Amino acid sequence: MCCLAAVVTLAVACKSTRTVTDPQTQTTESTQRGGKNVVSTPEEFNQAIESAEPGDKIYLASKVWTDVELKFEANGEEGDSIYIIAQEKGKTVFEGNSNIKLGGSYLVIDGLVFKNGYTATSSVISLQKDKETPCNHCRITESVIDNYNPSERFDTDYWVEIYGKHNRFDHNYLVGKRNRGVTVAVRLKYERDRENYHRIDHNYFGYNPILGSNGGETLRIGTSHYSLSNSNTVVEDNYFERCNGEHEIISSKSCQNIYDNNAFYECQGTLTMRHGNETLVTNNYFLGNRKPNTGGVRIINETQTVTHNYMEGLTGYRFRGALVIMNGVPNSPLNRYFQVKDSKMNSNLVVDCDYIQLCAGSDDERSATPINTTFEDNIITNQLSDDLFTLYDDVSGINFKGNLLSENLSKPMYNGSTIQGFDNKSIDLVRVNNLMTTPSHPLIGPQTAKPMPTADNTGVSWYPRQDYQIRFNTGTTHHAAPGDDTLQQVIDAASDGDVILLDAGASYHMTRSLTLDKTLTFKSSGGTHSLITFERSPFIALENGGSLSLEGLHISGKESDDYSGNSVIRTSRYSMIDNYKLSVKDCKVTDLDVNHSFNFLKVYKNTFADSISLINTTFDNISGHVLNMNKEIDATGIYNVESVIVENCQFKDIGGSAINLYRGGRDESTFGPMLWLSDSTFDNVGNDKRNKNQSAVDLFGVQHAELNNLKLNDSKKMNLHLVVGDPVIILDNIQFDNTELISNSEAYRKTNVTFK
Ligand code: CA
Repeated sequence: MCCLAAVVTLAVACKSTRTVTDPQTQTTESTQRGGKNVVSTPEEFNQAIESAEPGDKIYLASKVWTDVELKFEANGEEGDSIYIIAQEKGKTVFEGNSNIKLGGSYLVIDGLVFKNGYTATSSVISLQKDKETPCNHCRITESVIDNYNPSERFDTDYWVEIYGKHNRFDHNYLVGKRNRGVTVAVRLKYERDRENYHRIDHNYFGYNPILGSNGGETLRIGTSHYSLSNSNTVVEDNYFERCNGEHEIISSKSCQNIYDNNAFYECQGTLTMRHGNETLVTNNYFLGNRKPNTGGVRIINETQTVTHNYMEGLTGYRFRGALVIMNGVPNSPLNRYFQVKDSKMNSNLVVDCDYIQLCAGSDDERSATPINTTFEDNIITNQLSDDLFTLYDDVSGINFKGNLLSENLSKPMYNGSTIQGFDNKSIDLVRVNNLMTTPSHPLIGPQTAKPMPTADNTGVSWYPRQDYQIRFNTGTTHHAAPGDDTLQQVIDAASDGDVILLDAGASYHMTRSLTLDKTLTFKSSGGTHSLITFERSPFIALENGGSLSLEGLHISGKESDDYSGNSVIRTSRYSMIDNYKLSVKDCKVTDLDVNHSFNFLKVYKNTFADSISLINTTFDNISGHVLNMNKEIDATGIYNVESVIVENCQFKDIGGSAINLYRGGRDESTFGPMLWLSDSTFDNVGNDKRNKNQSAVDLFGVQHAELNNLKLNDSKKMNLHLVVGDPVIILDNIQFDNTELISNSEAYRKTNVTFK
């Protein structure tokens, strides 16, 4: 159980212990004793391990090691670890189904790279060889795991599992975890793993795309089962960049952890004290750059301390606000929400962040409001918005004192009364080294002499950094000649980001489907549309790695083979580990009606779009659906697309739905789907008897929908089925003519909505 020692005292105690007893602060060059040995095969490695003495260094030869599963069990001594080192940094590369398990004490792994493959076991690097053999006083340093994923997005694994005690995980570079499962997990399963005093520091946690499901945490310490045990893990000086897997960037699920001097750059989510008590979160930097869903810190449970953090440009709402204090569940079971008690959220500097959420999650179940908690001496400024606070419930258990708000900001209110403890004041802000400071309030915000973590002072210096985001129109342009089947060879010659230019007014006909596994734009050379016709369905199959932008094209189904269930674009039939994007702009899509159920986009289960946008495009005479994103039907909070943007489009004579978004179940770990739908018309949409949901627009479990300036005529209903979370739904200036609006909830904002 948690001890009652003050958390800050504890931090000092652990650090001093570490410097005395751990070998981990030594560099790999400091060992004088021991032999050196280069090994080139798993057999040579095993022999070297068998005879290894404390202080030995075993070098793994520079080469690609394919399908190699190393087991490194040995015991070094304090001051004389046994080292497994890359012969040359960056040249010892593990591919295929490779992984390593360590067990014993005083072992160091230095400089390994894992890429082009995935582990067939539960983790790539495990700090226990087997159940009987955990690691103690071991270190993983300067190692790389780069996009080492299975092809199935919902097969679960970890990249790193840390067991035992007194282990250090530092200066590693981890980027591109795309399947379900935490990137780095500290395990507390056995007694021997608790009060572990691990240190996780100076790592670069890079791009972690949206998973669209629970299980996309970058770092998790503990699980709900053992969450009332102390972990005593220190997480410091790490850099997290675009860790967007789900809404917990870090899920702290144990007691007495410390998060000190970490930077979170454009991360969609929060550092969440999900379970466990007595955690300290201090001197951290949350830099959102106004990217969607970027958040700060979320408090749940008891005796949590959130002080001297810096938040800027965070836009996240609800559970991913800049500062969030949750409501709890009375007599909560371990896996739900404990009431917030005896916690502090003090002396934080919050600049241009959109939401501060108190008693968040208040509902019939989460009815226990925070008690004996302080919210003091925070400075909160905002140039962009005047109203940041949402109080979902009674905040009388939070003591508010000495908080300063910029002059424009409204003070928090609950039940019509203003909450005391906030003063509006002109606050001097000076930008120093990219951060805002307040010279007249020097004790607010980070108070550390350590440098802020950046991409440059974390991870490894010797591994090439890549941009893993999908970007259209960043490469070269290729010309495609009109005629039959001219496009596939241009696709084959193109690279990610390239543009394929089609002659304006010319015709392109496909006698076979195109396959796309890269990011490409197909674009008319301008003025008039280029005409696309195709015999086989689909026109384009998006396979893993594919993303598609279409501009200035007229896509006609007139020449399509006479089968039911055709589509213009479809995703892979199999799991796609890479998220895709689809953009359609200035296009005309007509006559998808050779047979029934001809869809514009057909998606399959286990595929996920980061975004789909339809801009300035006409859809006319289609027997199936335009966007039918409803293939994740397991009610586990999984869905098919994060963001849908539809602007200035006309949908006319569509048998199925124009837009159908589905997210089932009660899981609250993710942000989507989100929809922005504006300036569009729907005429005779959804009336085909095969249209199962009998809607023109069907939004089930959608988390954010802004619908503006729409006209729906002679169409099936617009259906809002709000089932989970606290969705933001705004309807403004919508005209329904012989079309219904149906909702299972009135929890949305509605202005200027008319019916004829
Ligand atoms: Ca989670």
